[in-house]
Amino acid sequence: MATVAEMRERLRRPLAAELAAGCADRVVAGGVERLLASPLANPFPGVREALRGYAGHDEAGRAEALRAALALLDGQDQAASAPRPARPAAKPAVPTAAPGERLPPDAEVTRLDSGPGGARKLQSLGLRTLRDVLHAYPHRHEDRRALPDLSEVEEGQKVTVEGTVIAKSRRKPKPNMLILDVTLETPSGGRVKASWFNQPWVERQLKEGARLVLTGRVKTFGRSVQLGVEHLETVEDAQGSLSTGRIVGVYDSKDGISQEFLRRTAFRALQAVPLDDYLPAHWRQKYGLTDLGDALHGMHFPHDEAQLERAFARLRFDEYLFLELRVLLQGEDVVLLGKRFQATGHDIATFEAALPFQLTGAQRRVLLEITDDMRSERQMARLVQGDVGSGKTAVAACALYLAVRDGYQGALMAPTEILARQHYANLVGYLGKLDVRVGLLIGAMTPRAKLEMQTRIAEGEVDVVVGTQALIQENVRFDNLGLAVVDEEHRFGVMQRRKLLAGRPDVLVMSATPIPRSLALTAYGDLELSVIDELPPGRTPIETKLIQDTHRQQAYGFVMRQIREGRQAFVVTALIEENENLELLAATQLADDLKVILPEARIELLHGKMTAAEKDHVMDRFRARAFDILVSTTVIEVGVDVPNASVMVIENAERFGLAQLHQLRGRVGRGSAQSYCVLIAGEHSKKTRQRLKIIEGSTDGFVIAEADLKLRGPGEIRGTRQSGIPDLRLGDLASDVEVIERARELAKYILAHDPRLEHPRLQYLKSELQSRSQSVAFREVI
Ligand code: ADP
Ligand code: MG
Repeated sequence: MATVAEMRERLRRPLAAELAAGCADRVVAGGVERLLASPLANPFPGVREALRGYAGHDEAGRAEALRAALALLDGQDQAASAPRPARPAAKPAVPTAAPGERLPPDAEVTRLDSGPGGARKLQSLGLRTLRDVLHAYPHRHEDRRALPDLSEVEEGQKVTVEGTVIAKSRRKPKPNMLILDVTLETPSGGRVKASWFNQPWVERQLKEGARLVLTGRVKTFGRSVQLGVEHLETVEDAQGSLSTGRIVGVYDSKDGISQEFLRRTAFRALQAVPLDDYLPAHWRQKYGLTDLGDALHGMHFPHDEAQLERAFARLRFDEYLFLELRVLLQGEDVVLLGKRFQATGHDIATFEAALPFQLTGAQRRVLLEITDDMRSERQMARLVQGDVGSGKTAVAACALYLAVRDGYQGALMAPTEILARQHYANLVGYLGKLDVRVGLLIGAMTPRAKLEMQTRIAEGEVDVVVGTQALIQENVRFDNLGLAVVDEEHRFGVMQRRKLLAGRPDVLVMSATPIPRSLALTAYGDLELSVIDELPPGRTPIETKLIQDTHRQQAYGFVMRQIREGRQAFVVTALIEENENLELLAATQLADDLKVILPEARIELLHGKMTAAEKDHVMDRFRARAFDILVSTTVIEVGVDVPNASVMVIENAERFGLAQLHQLRGRVGRGSAQSYCVLIAGEHSKKTRQRLKIIEGSTDGFVIAEADLKLRGPGEIRGTRQSGIPDLRLGDLASDVEVIERARELAKYILAHDPRLEHPRLQYLKSELQSRSQSVAFREVI
């Protein structure tokens, strides 16, 4: 039986040919209406409707009907049965390209007509094949359908309006400032003021009488609405535009690669690749999933919220399905034998006696689970999950000690050099007095120092090595590696861990991402899970305060008082989407502003464009109290310890996700002093306020993840959160329990009946699975 995608294609081709041939109704044997009466058109009632009475129309009428029908076939066949959108869809469809060359999904992007330098741009984003392009989903969607009226817009909301320019003016309040204002009359007779700051080049588009579509942020003054414009198109351009008048995807990008380019590329890829569905129809039906064509169109160019929802549901399910299939298929050849350690009670007691504190109940329980694994001859593969500061590193240190006591070497791998250094310092603290020789191996060391360390490791003169993963994997030959600890697993991903497991040491993974148990089982495949669900005692909970940016002065006054008491502070600047340069600019600006507001404070800057060595240098100086305030972009997100820092200020907190805020806040409160987190919120909606209130009200990662989940309604157009697991681009481990279970059920069913995916009907599925395993888009590039 043909899939819907195949049927669509078989219907599409003759209709496109008919259009190209001038609508004489001669292309299709028996005429267009005859074709539509065939069972081929059964899944597409809307198309039938559009072409009803085709033979009776004149040429223009036929062409219009054909265009409408082709638009429907291009991914919107389900719109008719979907619930009515809350707002009118602004226009029928994305522009329909002429039927061009069809390319297989694995074709290189060079074969796509993406303009001069286009292929190179795509490759620089890690997109090599059309499949990569199709599955490089927008990380969020913006509703740029023109609002019918503006009576209900909120301050700070981003909206799109359409209207005619009825007045314009230019102002120069300062020598180097130019403000262009226009008044726009909307079709319903409303008025909107719109303005541009220092963008002289837009002026020529702002003639009176010009019809424009504008997207921007709302400022309200009493009942009048003013728009700070971010995107402008004329109504004529907007007709065929991929960037306005619709729900628009926003893609991951970098400097010099525009969103418009990425949208055009995605559009071309959708046109070029036949979207044959790898999931047989009866399974789609059973799991309530839309077909692949509808899903991919819906992800990149959704017709309405309903299609976007369908797209998310389908593509997210697929991610879990392929992840499950991969995990289950690999399960077969996992090496089960690992190291067998003594891990005596005596050694554990020795370790604990050397600690400056007592282990918590949770740490002790997890340690028992670990030592059980270590004593067995099966290879340990265990995930230790615990909130930031719950004491995972101390537990790992004990496991490493036990390995060393048995004459093995241990390794601890961190995702960044800063973290590697920090772990190194901690391990020296825990293990140094127990005569364990700890070494550090990171990229910032001189070649000579590296070589020397590698030699010492190979000769067994170092017991525990701390480093970044790449170094340890590629260049280091261990004398006798018994235990590998991997910190912040989510940076590495399943495939990398597999490589490690193949090398036979016992493996312990530490992660601070709060994931419900059932999900962890899937996400981490065959890892056993231990949870440290208790913080060390005596830790004063961090006090969190949400304030409006109009009160920033007070916030920094407070920071200054802490500094006078000998404390230090982190200040994190807003995330600026898609633009590292702007992010750097904002951070630099903030640091300069703070130097003015707080002349007594010593202030330094840390940002993503620094080299690892530069970052290390700044962090070292901060730890050594060489300055008071570290202004930073989000590069400090993971794991850095500065016990003397007692304040975390987060600017433009409204732009961060809750999980990220929680992680950032975890940077303080590491010592015994009372610590504070100040969230400074710029303009935001009520909903955002509610979200930020969650962070203010709780310091428990699980509670925050759950509350966050409840707040996000299912109908909401939402950004895709980074799960950190490379196979998952849409999947959100904290909220996908049901999807995961259903995907796993299907994966198990498939493999139980056909362990090697040999059935002809599963050939597409099999090749998709293989291609995804090889595709860069589905692997993390370290
Ligand atoms: P994590 O790795 O989970 O973020 P760490 O192991 O780095 O947490 O511990 C955070 C801080 O708490 C460290 O300064 C550590 O010395 C301290 N710590 C760990 N366990 C305990 C404990 N049982 N009692 C008191 N302090 C502890
Ligand atoms: Mg840690």
